[in-house]
Amino acid sequence: MAFTLTKVKTKADPALEHMLEKTAAFHGHLCPGTVIGTRMALAGLREIGITDPKGSQQKDFVVYVETDRCPIDAISVVTGARISRRNLRFLDWGKVAATFVNLKNGKAIRILCPDSARDLVDNYASGEYPDDKHGRDAREVDAYKIMPEKGLFVISSVKIDNLKFGKEKFKVQCEKCGETVNDRKEMIVDGKVMCQSCGEGEGYYHAL
Ligand SMILES: [Zn+2]
Ligand SMILES: [Zn+2]
Repeated sequence: MAFTLTKVKTKADPALEHMLEKTAAFHGHLCPGTVIGTRMALAGLREIGITDPKGSQQKDFVVYVETDRCPIDAISVVTGARISRRNLRFLDWGKVAATFVNLKNGKAIRILCPDSARDLVDNYASGEYPDDKHGRDAREVDAYKIMPEKGLFVISSVKIDNLKFGKEKFKVQCEKCGETVNDRKEMIVDGKVMCQSCGEGEGYYHAL
């Protein structure tokens, strides 16, 4: 085992604390997911060599986020990526994971926070905590701030299939419902151009 059960007293990195103030302010509270998302984003940018995500390198990367819970807010704040900027791709997969892609060189790194990270919390939370939801959250927040990255994350190199981020304007009409589909989000089903709602066969709504 890489981790001993002795309690570790380490101060959180001041740069991390500074970033957590921003991410928590945007998210509305400081919670375990905010700490995880903030550290995930900092690690992801570092791994793909992006040092100026909100300035000169704003268009040089893209982030796939696999959760719609707390970490996605932090990832968006740290990286500056937004759905509307088309550099944050949201996948509704319910996983605490994100992939950071450098569009200049194709380097792609997926970072997962495994369930095992929670098992390490006691090793890194050194305060007295009330035995309620707030206390449990506070313990996790303190622990995730200082937990070594190899306990908190599984970081792997990946290759992105179908990396298409064309800037050209393109639109087409769905052959079934007739609605316009922009930006090559259409699909071909039985040789017909369809929107994803028609093409998938199970849209999120049904006409009344
Ligand atoms: Zn939260
Ligand atoms: Zn359609």
